[in-house]
Amino acid sequence: MPKIKSSLKSKISNWIAPYNENKEVFSSDGKIIYCLVCEKFVSTEKKYLLDHHSKTIQHINALQRNKERKQQIFITSQHTGKSIPDESTLRKNYIPNIYKSVMDQIISDIGNNYVYIIVDETTDPRGLSIANLLTGKLDGTPSKSYLVACKELESTNYETICQFINSSLKIFPGIEQKVLLLISDAGTYMIKAAKTLKIFFPKLIHITCMAHAVNRVLEKIRELYPDINKLINNGKKAFLKAPSRINKYRKEMPGIPLPPETIISRWGTWLNAALFYANNFEKFKNVIESLTDDALSVEKLKLLVQDNAVKCDLAFIKLHLSELCTNLKNLEESNSELLKSMDIFRKIEDILTNIPGP
Ligand SMILES: [Zn+2]
Repeated sequence: MPKIKSSLKSKISNWIAPYNENKEVFSSDGKIIYCLVCEKFVSTEKKYLLDHHSKTIQHINALQRNKERKQQIFITSQHTGKSIPDESTLRKNYIPNIYKSVMDQIISDIGNNYVYIIVDETTDPRGLSIANLLTGKLDGTPSKSYLVACKELESTNYETICQFINSSLKIFPGIEQKVLLLISDAGTYMIKAAKTLKIFFPKLIHITCMAHAVNRVLEKIRELYPDINKLINNGKKAFLKAPSRINKYRKEMPGIPLPPETIISRWGTWLNAALFYANNFEKFKNVIESLTDDALSVEKLKLLVQDNAVKCDLAFIKLHLSELCTNLKNLEESNSELLKSMDIFRKIEDILTNIPGP
């Protein structure tokens, strides 16, 4: 009996059958194979090309994503009794409309008022540089800031920042005459960007963030007191996961939390830690002197607590700089009025100018 040459169509349907759960993975018209999950064509020349595609990591991941999405849709539709459109349908048909309606709301809220803009640049989890632009109206009352643009920058310099601000603000009618304030950090490229932007926005005044400025002062203070910095660092280290030392600490200093740590990204934590030692110096000194082990951090602490200069420096910080922390905290509060912020800033200025010194 002569062997009947099976047609390409049935051959393909045999090839894809084991992979084609619910006919949702591959589709074929008998001539071509299309992978529905990867959204691409797969060669029909040889069977092993299809086998190979089905084992690629891209295909496996796409299958997994598909499965998760279906589960989610299933659960949601079970609970709401409504069917949910596909993600790409949402992205293509719904998002642009929602974006437009939100932007229209913002435009109408701002109306004919003057506005401020805030620009900042940050790094996202992928390590890419992302610029953010916020705006709000200046009508004499505390106003809500709207995030109006979020964009990946290929490089961070004054040109890309200018471009980002200019293109993001185009959506607001007559914006050139409305922008009064630009708020940013004091990065060199921000300062240069602000100068350039004055060409487009003639009324623009650039102010750098006041909390940033105060933080710079605090960084300077830390730099001026290396021994207190050592005290803070070793104080934290000595009581980290050291039960017997912690026991002695608790006995001597009941109700007082363990030595605080400083977090670079949380402004004011260094000064707070210094104040902790200023307030608890004698008790802390007793604890350290009662310790008998020879850990490096303990040895360093023993020298520091006996150093009279350290004690004097702490007293000096407590007397002249302790108010800085509360004022910085008030400054960082959102929705505060400019006048109030200026008041706080003046207080900070007073604190700094009244420090006696050589
Ligand atoms: Zn695929």
